[in-house]
Amino acid sequence: MADRSFLDWPFFAESHRRLAADLEGWCQAELGEPDEADVDAACRALVPQLGQAGWLRYCVPAAYGGVHEQLDVRALALIRETLARHHGLADYAFAMQGLGSGTISLFGSEAQKQAYLPAVARGEAIAAFALTDPGSGSDVANMETRAAAVDGGYVLHGGKTYISNGGIADFYVLFARTGEAPGAKGLSAFIVDADTRGLEIAERIQVIAPHPLATLRFDGMRLPAPALVGERGRGFQQAMATLDVFRTTVGAAALGLARRALDEATRRVLERKLGTGTLADNPITQSKLAEMVLDIETSALLVYRAAWLRDVGGRRNSREAALAKLHATDSAQSVIDKAVQMFGGLGVTHGVAVERLYREVRALRIYEGASEVQKVVIARAHLAEYRG
Ligand SMILES: Cc1cc2nc3c(=O)[nH]c(=O)nc-3n(C[C@H](O)[C@H](O)[C@H](O)COP(=O)(O)OP(=O)(O)OC[C@H]3O[C@@H](n4cnc5c(N)ncnc54)[C@H](O)[C@@H]3O)c2cc1C
Repeated sequence: MADRSFLDWPFFAESHRRLAADLEGWCQAELGEPDEADVDAACRALVPQLGQAGWLRYCVPAAYGGVHEQLDVRALALIRETLARHHGLADYAFAMQGLGSGTISLFGSEAQKQAYLPAVARGEAIAAFALTDPGSGSDVANMETRAAAVDGGYVLHGGKTYISNGGIADFYVLFARTGEAPGAKGLSAFIVDADTRGLEIAERIQVIAPHPLATLRFDGMRLPAPALVGERGRGFQQAMATLDVFRTTVGAAALGLARRALDEATRRVLERKLGTGTLADNPITQSKLAEMVLDIETSALLVYRAAWLRDVGGRRNSREAALAKLHATDSAQSVIDKAVQMFGGLGVTHGVAVERLYREVRALRIYEGASEVQKVVIARAHLAEYRG
């Protein structure tokens, strides 16, 4: 049984503890093991299922069918941790509804919010976040995808790659260079409906832990003026502000995967015979278990500290979100690797939970800012304190 004592920490309100308990019951009753055979179909089913159960309401503000007035990062993190512990694909489907609509929640016009957010919360519209250019993944400021202003709107040329929900999304929040200034100050965000003429799903991408993923291409795709989100030239800042909310929750998802691995490994070593006892009696196993517990506890502290700071402090938390994502994803990898080792041959066998967790955790150290990018954010914030 995964440890739940962290719910007593002062980061949480009573509503968070209720949410965690309710979702735990729902996951046990409704979610089986993830079906990796047809992830498009699985995600198309999971989004309305999560919507009907009310969990997607946490992805949008209260005025548009949500629960909290502003996105509540502690609730998002608790939901991601719990879903990831039970069912990686359910976590993915949930996360993308939040990330894909997050820029609209934070910066959209009233009309845009009304048009998209209630459908996201009900699970009736699938959302996607299209930031990554093929030529400049981590280097967002230098993206080449262009949006030229024309009479009544914009014309876009370029492409996006590794776009989660690419191919099944109903709309994409897409970032392109509008050229107000070089680099980061010349980007803008647009809402692109999936049926927009000129939007091509150029390639579906298969990855280590399958989920819907695609490369998008557009050559002369026309968008109406109201597709622009917020002000022109503010796209980089909008993308980073959206990631500040969701980076912490990537850490939470990693934490959920790690807790599941520790749970699976603990059960296994308690049962597996070794000599006259079990693997659990062995001091080397116990040392590994202690390291896993330590990694999980420190990750949880960083994740929920970052979430609390954002919710209660009400300010940007880039440094703390980066610390949480970096540590939780790196250490989840290490926890899950130890769990696989404790399972021996069974640990690398298809159909065994730790084998799936081993694949699921890997991409979390790459997307929404690779671990090295988080280190840049942390070091810059640290040095700024000294430089003044
Ligand atoms: C499964 C998956 C889902 C994704 N979903 C989405 C999505 O929904 N929307 C979206 O827009 N993008 C998405 N991405 C893209 C993801 O955000 C990028 O892969 C990521 O930003 C890294 O970009 P890149 O792959 O081009 O790697 P590169 O930018 O080429 O970087 C390669 C490596 O270089 C190192 N590196 C990069 N920058 C630095 C630095 N400043 N200092 C030191 N080392 C550095 C890191 O180790 C990095 O992994 C997804 C990716 C994956 C794998």
